[in-house]
Amino acid sequence: MNNETLIKNLRNIPDFPIPGIQFKDVSTLFKNPKCMKIMVNEVYDLYKDKGITKVVGIESRGFILGAAAAVKLNAGFVLARKPGKLPAETISESYMKEYGKDTIEIHKDAIDENDVVLIHDDLLATGGSMKAVYNLVQKFHPKKVYINFIIELTGEGLNGRETFDPETEITTLIKI
Ligand code: AMP
Repeated sequence: MNNETLIKNLRNIPDFPIPGIQFKDVSTLFKNPKCMKIMVNEVYDLYKDKGITKVVGIESRGFILGAAAAVKLNAGFVLARKPGKLPAETISESYMKEYGKDTIEIHKDAIDENDVVLIHDDLLATGGSMKAVYNLVQKFHPKKVYINFIIELTGEGLNGRETFDPETEITTLIKI
């Protein structure tokens, strides 16, 4: 993949939110109609033959392309949210972050055993947050689970893919 238009339009913000972090600002991709179209089409091409029935987007940047891709894939869209945000009964998964613990939730009736799920987020760094959502989605016993990111950070010390079993199917649109 590594579409030139996407790479050219992705904004890097040094030292945000803390010194030393090179923040990849996907809002510059979302505001650009050409980039939106490229991203939706790329996700569609990757998954059009997989029988995806639900796209799970991770709060909050995973909601945007996740929902757009769900429409094109003729799939439903499911929200994976931070604790206390979803109004009905949820299933949750907790995970360790660099500083302390975090939790992610999905509505209990959002996914079932007949679903083929694509989980989407904007960026793969350590893989911790996606792993938590992946584990959470597995609790619903869907037929199959795929993972997609817009960006994969491949820099020193980041082995996001290694957080997952080698057979886990992960695609990314841009590798940096
Ligand atoms: P991780 O769980 O370490 O893979 O971190 C991924 C999550 O943190 C994603 O939801 C990203 O939105 C956010 N994130 C981590 N690092 C960055 C970065 N350098 N630029 C933008 N977002 C980031």
